[in-house]
Formats: sequence, C-alpha cells, structure tokens
Amino acid sequence: MARSRNARRKKHTYTTEQEPTPTENSMLSLDDVTTQIMGAFEPVTSNNRSPTLLENPRVVCADITEPGIPCFLYLSPTPGQADMVIIDYLLSVMWTIREAPTALQQPIPGHERELYFRIGEVPGGKGLGMVATRAIKAGELIHAERPVVISRPELYTTSSLSPVGDKEYYDMALSGLSPQALESFLALHNAFPNEGPIDPMSGILNTNSFDTSLKIGDGDDNLEKLAGCYPTLSRANHDCSPSANFHFSQKTFCGQFFATRDILEGEEITVTYTDYLMSHKERNRVLKKTYGFICTCRTCSLPPALVKESDMRRRDIDTMLKDAAEDTLRYPQPTELELRQLVRWAEQEGLWMTRGMILYHGSLILSVTDCLNVGFEWLKETRKVFRMLLGEDSLKLEHVDSLGRKMAQKLASNGVLCHWPTTALEGG
Ligand SMILES: [Zn+2]
Repeated sequence: MARSRNARRKKHTYTTEQEPTPTENSMLSLDDVTTQIMGAFEPVTSNNRSPTLLENPRVVCADITEPGIPCFLYLSPTPGQADMVIIDYLLSVMWTIREAPTALQQPIPGHERELYFRIGEVPGGKGLGMVATRAIKAGELIHAERPVVISRPELYTTSSLSPVGDKEYYDMALSGLSPQALESFLALHNAFPNEGPIDPMSGILNTNSFDTSLKIGDGDDNLEKLAGCYPTLSRANHDCSPSANFHFSQKTFCGQFFATRDILEGEEITVTYTDYLMSHKERNRVLKKTYGFICTCRTCSLPPALVKESDMRRRDIDTMLKDAAEDTLRYPQPTELELRQLVRWAEQEGLWMTRGMILYHGSLILSVTDCLNVGFEWLKETRKVFRMLLGEDSLKLEHVDSLGRKMAQKLASNGVLCHWPTTALEGG
C-alpha cells in the first residue's frame, strides 16, 4: 500500500484557456476528437449509458450527464485488453491522448536489467513489503513501472455526480483492462474493506495511490492532480525516514523509485505515505485514520526525549519551507548559518528529498540576501539532489537548470567565472 489522496468531491469546470490546441505532432487531430466528442453528448443524454467516444485509443464516457464528464481512457483500442485506464474529465483526457502515446513508446527505464528487490513478507506485522536483493546506491533507480489505474481523486466516487452507483461506475472503468492488469490492481491492499457502500476499487485507490499529476496544457503551472496505482511500487511500506523517493515521469509515463540513501541487501525499501514533516503524534494520527496502522519505524521507536528533538527539527524545517513556498519569509530572512543548520537537520532525520528542497529555497534566499555566487553554489547542490531523487527528466530539474543558466549568465556579466553543469557526470 502507499500514500493516499483523500477523495474530494468537487465539480470541475473548464475555462476556454484550458482547451487544447492542435499541434503538429498530435497523434490525433484534436479538432476531430472535439467533433466526435461533441457529437457524443447527444447519446449521453438519451439513455446510451456509456458510449464509446473514440476507438483508438478507446475513450468511453462514464454515465454522467453534464459537460466536462468523467471518461475512461484506455490506451489500447481493444476492449478488455488495456494495460491502463485513466479516469479523468473529458478535456484532460483529450490532452492525455495527445501526450501519452508518445510517452508509452519510450522504453520503461531499467527494464533491461534484473530486479533489485523482491516482494515478500517483512517483519513487524506489516505484511508484504519490498526488500532489496542487492546493495543499492543513493540515487540509483530502484524500479520504474506504468500505473494500472490513474484517477482524479475527486472522481474516486461518483454518487454525487451520477445516477449510477459506484459499483457500476468502477465495473465499467475496470472492464476495459486486460485480465492481467485487472488482477494486479485487485491484488493490492485495501485499508478500507469494511466501509459499507464504498466500492473496493475506491478503497484500493485510496490505499495505494501515488501522486501521478500530469502537466496538462502548455503553461508551466498546469499540473493536474491525479493519483496512480502501481502493481509493484504500491507494495512498498511506509517509513517516516523513507529509503526511496517516488517520482512520476510524464516523459515515459512511469512511476519511479529512486534510492534516497545507500540501501543494504536484505533491507526493506520504504516510501512515505504522509507528510513526514508533521510531528510524530500527528503523523501517526493520520496513518491510523487513513491506513489503520501505527508506525514503528526507527524514528517513531525512539525514546520520548529523542522523538521530541526529532519533532522540533522537522517542525523548524517545515516552517521554513512553508514560509518560502508562500513567499512569506520572516524578516530578516534566514542566514546562511541558519539554513545550513536546517540542511544538517534534514540529513540527521534522513529526509533527503527535503534536504533538496531546503537547498533550493536556500539558494533563492541567499542569492538575494547574501551573494549571487553563494546562491549559485547552493543551486548546484540542489541540482545534484533533484537529479538523484527525481531522475533526469523531472520538471523540477528542468526548472533548476533554467534558473541555473540565468544565474550563470548574470554572474558572467559581473565578471565572475562560473559554469552551470549540463550533463549528469558534470553535475555530480
Ligand atoms: Zn515512523
């Protein structure tokens, strides 16, 4: 099981700015798609409960009688043979149709080599988990795979949107999957088995989903919140200082685990299900409520006095990162010394992705308050972390590279000799 995204029921409306525009490399003409879809609104409102809007890739309309309807997109033309279903609003589905086929032609990273782990029983009453079958170096790709179900969290259940019940809705969604894909999905853990009318599929999605947001549209900020269930990655257990970091690559349409630190052979590979910067008490309240367990990881098993210290470090890091993200940093802003302290605390807590985020915000703060040269060096360190824990093709790395090149230009125009790394090897 893996981190959950709480189901929110929110009706979605699209503005004209979000409408897709045709491009040269479209697999399908979006004009044609739009024409077909608009034509299909007619049967939707006249008792044809699930019309097929497109044949290849197959788009089936859920039984929802409003524009912006949820659709099921199968990236295969043959009913009952798809490896993946995407449950999303119609216009987002149209974007995905444009992008996904190219991404799906990319090989799955690491597919040619043997697995670095096995799925098996792990101690501590945790059931199944992911165990390293060889030593793995920090930054190594542990595993990559495509999701079997991607869904917009607010569409986990449909009763507020549709006259059909959740069961019928999910049966329709799953009916397009191949038997193997369906089996891999249904084999995942459901932490909500006894919740009355909630369909098992909704429970599985809530228990096993990772953030699989898709950049939909041309703007940098158009990241649509979607959640994905993965046959293998979703098996990893939780730890408050996880040994793996999950990242979804839109370029290959794969979820990926990168080792946050060196992992020994035989050691469990873990991720986080919750915001690990919350206090020990708060983390465990959320884990209990959402997944039905109390964490027994190393951090959670420390003596009370040390848990208190850990909480304090995580709280200070959290405060700085939230302030920085909201651009409400206290004045005077944190000094290099204070920022270095936070970096050390993140290392002490084993929060390696968080260390990267501190370096990133620290770089921005220091290039304004201290000196551009120092900020530039911090950004280079950020690049190393993002490359290791998010992979070469992450949007965050792209952003850091673009910022780094701008900083390098500015420094060069001030007569400072500097160089922004352009290759993995150079970047360290
Ligand atoms: Zn824990």
